[in-house]
Amino acid sequence: MNTAETANDDTEAGEARRDFIREIVRADLAEGRVASVVTRFPPEPNGYLHIGHAKSICLNFGLAEDFGGRCNLRFDDTNPVKEEQEYIDAIETDVRWLGFDWGEHRYFASDNFEQLFAWAEHLIREGLAYVDDQSADEIRANRGTLTEPGQNSPFRDRSVEENLDLFRRMRAGEFPNGSRVLRAKIDMASGNINLRDPVLYRILHAPHPRTGDAWSIYPTYDYAHGQSDAIEGVTHSVCTLEFEAHRPLYDWLIEHLPAPSHPRQYEFARLNLSHTVLSKRRLIQLVTDGHVTGWDDPRLPTLAGLRRRGIPPEAIREFARRIGVAKSDNLVEVQQLDAAVREHLNKHALRRMAVLKPLKLVIENYPEGEIELLDAVNNPEDADAGKRPVPFSRELWIERDDFMEDPPRKFFRLGPGREVRLRYAYFVTCTDVVKDAAGEVVELRATYDPATRGGDAPDGRKVKGTIHWVSASHAVPAEVRIYDHLFTEEVPGAGGRDWLDDLNSESLTVLTGCMLEPALAEANSPATVQFERQGYFAPDPDGTPDKPVFNRTVGLRDSWAKIAKKGG
Ligand code: ATP
Ligand code: MG
Repeated sequence: MNTAETANDDTEAGEARRDFIREIVRADLAEGRVASVVTRFPPEPNGYLHIGHAKSICLNFGLAEDFGGRCNLRFDDTNPVKEEQEYIDAIETDVRWLGFDWGEHRYFASDNFEQLFAWAEHLIREGLAYVDDQSADEIRANRGTLTEPGQNSPFRDRSVEENLDLFRRMRAGEFPNGSRVLRAKIDMASGNINLRDPVLYRILHAPHPRTGDAWSIYPTYDYAHGQSDAIEGVTHSVCTLEFEAHRPLYDWLIEHLPAPSHPRQYEFARLNLSHTVLSKRRLIQLVTDGHVTGWDDPRLPTLAGLRRRGIPPEAIREFARRIGVAKSDNLVEVQQLDAAVREHLNKHALRRMAVLKPLKLVIENYPEGEIELLDAVNNPEDADAGKRPVPFSRELWIERDDFMEDPPRKFFRLGPGREVRLRYAYFVTCTDVVKDAAGEVVELRATYDPATRGGDAPDGRKVKGTIHWVSASHAVPAEVRIYDHLFTEEVPGAGGRDWLDDLNSESLTVLTGCMLEPALAEANSPATVQFERQGYFAPDPDGTPDKPVFNRTVGLRDSWAKIAKKGG
């Protein structure tokens, strides 16, 4: 095994991760409060997972890994109107792709509907829940504010019998949507609005992807979530900060129900990433309104999009490790993700040559019809990656940007009369420039020095530049898609702007007629490679063997940092 990889894996596993949630779990185990840790990742199947979810997945599955416990995959499917099987399938694919396994422990909140209903009746019988006939607007109006207490509902003191009867008829489908709800009877004057008789059930005549037409009422998130945790034996129910104020309700429900276990809820800061959006509502809008090509558009922060862009799951896990888990909200620069991607790919990606903006170079003293196979290193960071033969011939493609007719002093690449090294091949000197009628350079003429094959000049003369190339008669033409941030602003929509106004109109640049070395069209491997001197690129499923399409995963350097430095 290669040493770089071993070292990397050792850091990831060996370095004990420390954060406040791990401290809590460690103490709970040490002091015997829990026998073994059980966590869950609880997506609602109403959209695709994004990099924010990856933070939660890495945390929940990571806790189970670190402490020898388990992590359940729970679909929080309590709102049938927005949920679809497509999302369930995509979520499973994405969690597996990230490298985690829930084993047998896949659950659905909807599997608990019968139990949740029975527990709701239990609350009614204990005088702790009632059917409210107020409309949604009335309930909202009577809930009070942060400074004023709420008003008791006129239906709050219904008898147990009447409540049971109405609740069962709600279930039986006798009443229209929105006509009644079941509420917990807690305290309309509570300082915590979540405790002002929260809604536990609402009437919704809508078929559910899993329970079909069986139910006309559905439990709310607050009611279903904690009870599902308890049923699954979750010990640490880790969620994002916006649920902090829901924790007293979480605990109240568990305490007042004959729940089989007492999970505890802990909150951490959600991931906010610059130059993108991580709200499902906004992501759905980008997809359905056609601002992107689909859920797996490589510009999206969805796991499907990041995968299609060529980002390896290891880099996402490393990114999650680096940003850590804390209790205060902050904004993470997307450049941090890019850096993790670049570091991983630098160690693992195979090197290839590709010319994105081709310019013909004809080597006049190279024999016509001759082809040499030159050795090219697959990965200088990984000796085990070996070498590959690259065909060389009289006519090559080089990068248009590697030539300047009138180069400034610090330009070390090709210009009239200048000599450069062709990577893995020979020194060449530009002898002539061919232009079209419009005066545009269309071809370069050159001579090569046969004595420099694959190395230095025997006479000791040096060249300052090395450029990449592709043999013209062997080149595979391809389309290459270059991506930039989806949004021009760090926080789209900040300062009261419409977030859609911050979409970057140049987030996608399509280059056609790019020229690839033949190895890139072989063995249709999905792995991300480095195009030497250009960045990391991954084959896109839109491509075919004779017309490949590549996505730029990330550039070699942080071009944004460079711009910032220049500006400053
Ligand atoms: P919704 O508004 O539909 O609830 P959501 O982003 O909360 O959107 P869920 O499917 O409920 O989506 O999320 C599943 C889990 O992922 C939850 O525990 C949630 O807290 C967590 N999660 C969601 N977004 C982030 C984020 N940006 N950073 C960290 N965790 C997140
Ligand atoms: Mg949520």
